[in-house]
Amino acid sequence: MSKGKINVSVENIFPLIKKFLYSDHEIFLRELISNATDATLKLKHLTSIGEAKVEYGNPRIEIKADKEGKKLHIIDQGLGMTAEEVEKYINQVAFSGAEEFLNKYEDGAKDTGIIGHFGLGFYSAFMVADKVEIITKSFKDAPAAHWSCDGSPNFTLEEGKKEDRGTEIILHIADDSTEFLEDSRITELLNKYNKFMPIPIKFGTKTETLPKPEGAKEEDEAPTQEVDNIINNPNPAWTKQPADLKEEDYKGFYRELYPMQFEEPLFNIHLNVDYPFNLTGILYFPKLTNDLNTQKDRIQLYQNQVFVTDNVEGIVPEFLTMLRGVIDSPDIPLNVSRSYLQADGAVKKISSYITRKVADKLSSLFKNSREDFEAKWNDIKIVIEYGMLSEDKFFEKADKFALYPTVDGSFYTFEELQEKLKGNQTDKDDKLVILYASDKEAQHSYIEAAKTKGYEVLLMDSPIIAHLMQKLEGSKENISFTRVDADHIDNLIKKEENQISKLSDEEKETLKTELEKTIENKSYTIQLEAMDSSASPFIITEPEFMRRMKEMQQSGGGGGMFGMDNMPEMYNLVVNTNHELVGEILNTKTAKKKERLINQSLDLARLSKGLLKGAELTEFIKRSYDMVK
Ligand code: ADP
Ligand code: MG
Repeated sequence: MSKGKINVSVENIFPLIKKFLYSDHEIFLRELISNATDATLKLKHLTSIGEAKVEYGNPRIEIKADKEGKKLHIIDQGLGMTAEEVEKYINQVAFSGAEEFLNKYEDGAKDTGIIGHFGLGFYSAFMVADKVEIITKSFKDAPAAHWSCDGSPNFTLEEGKKEDRGTEIILHIADDSTEFLEDSRITELLNKYNKFMPIPIKFGTKTETLPKPEGAKEEDEAPTQEVDNIINNPNPAWTKQPADLKEEDYKGFYRELYPMQFEEPLFNIHLNVDYPFNLTGILYFPKLTNDLNTQKDRIQLYQNQVFVTDNVEGIVPEFLTMLRGVIDSPDIPLNVSRSYLQADGAVKKISSYITRKVADKLSSLFKNSREDFEAKWNDIKIVIEYGMLSEDKFFEKADKFALYPTVDGSFYTFEELQEKLKGNQTDKDDKLVILYASDKEAQHSYIEAAKTKGYEVLLMDSPIIAHLMQKLEGSKENISFTRVDADHIDNLIKKEENQISKLSDEEKETLKTELEKTIENKSYTIQLEAMDSSASPFIITEPEFMRRMKEMQQSGGGGGMFGMDNMPEMYNLVVNTNHELVGEILNTKTAKKKERLINQSLDLARLSKGLLKGAELTEFIKRSYDMVK
């Protein structure tokens, strides 16, 4: 037996290990299972190239919890270690790795949001154990070795009793870490970190129901048997070639990833590159709602099938964090801060590769099955619109397939839209005016007025659409978006010809004074317009610019500097001087009747804009009944 001191420069690394990674104690199991997996895969490689003359067989890893003895065992059938190798790899290599990691960690990387904490390795066992043993037998012809260390820098190394090849790690779980002896906690960790690792992992047994033997009676219970409980799927879909997978396999894998999710994904994108970086994965487009925030952080990041984190910020562009699925890449540095990560060359390449693949997939869906793409548009538009806003490269591509639905359910690309509208919706300054509504029901009367003129009205109801319109107006030539209630119909798209006014200037002056007197406290800007006599007499409008700025601010960014948080809504009251009713208002002699006509008309205009509510609505209804009588 040999005794020794682990080569220490930090006098006592073990308390440090415990203290520093306080919140991440649970990763010890991932580290030890990773080592067991590495050892098994190394053996596989050595046998395949003929360097190890042993039977590889069907190795697996086993986790055993001994609650009474307060021990946790991690057992593999990998290549094992000789005593010399333990000395080298555990006492020197692993230790210096752990030490280096801690130094880095101390240097403030801790506060900047490390992902994963890979790298501590074997010594992370001391986060939960006050004594650790290694019993290992190499595939080489050498006696087994037994290493033991109680958490001080002192270790013992002696010959061990182990017949079969492989390594068993025994953790003597510390009193403050007994949670890691509970089946439920272990299962939770295995599911979180090891669900897709490449070597089968056994944890206990489970009862399987067998088919009833022939001739069994109805009331006979089906026979059962105890089988190994294998907690992982060693060959998850993303490690396979796209050509080997069917639609059903992709859907099946989605259910494996999100067992609690009952809705099926809309489509998927298989990522698969090995140069200039290595990346595999499958991304899914789920049905998305208008709520941007609750849908994030569902993409899981793996390294060689080991789960690292479900926060992929900095690796996947922001707009794609609403997608789901898996990314697996050994090329993402994990012991660095987020800000460093975003500046990392490899990560930048990965991010733009993912963006490009997503754009290409959408583009091919659009080209190959437009009808299907249209049907899915409402469920995916939020990602595409967000992407167009935030990534210029994506904008360029998406501009060709982004759709603009009309209130009647037709879908146009921007180019098609321009083509379709240019005849009727170009104003006198040669500007193409794109009309839209944000709510089909609430803006119904305005939509109808536009349709009477033969105008197309888009339905633009995403939470960030105001930002996108702003961007489109800035990047396309001579176009503008105008909501149908932004002005009265003749002003929405200004043409050359003007309606001739039925009222003289003098009459207009009188009318205006009377209107202002009656509705003085309702703060509308009154605007007299000579319109078609069939257009509504009173119309309330809400100018595009101010409304949009306000909306942009509410949905974040954009108008922030305008300080419009508390800006009141601004409305205009457009009065159609060519309408018969307006003529009547002007000509009515009794003041009472005049006032009633004005108030009733104003209330109707407010009703149609959805502004008449509460006591005023009640009053209006009462007044209307009286008039019906
Ligand atoms: P890393 O895995 O990054 O190399 P670790 O600290 O996890 O660092 O492990 C250090 C070394 O100890 C490994 O590189 C390996 O040589 C050896 N080792 C650890 N666990 C095992 C095991 N179960 N079987 C064989 N060798 C192992
Ligand atoms: Mg390791």
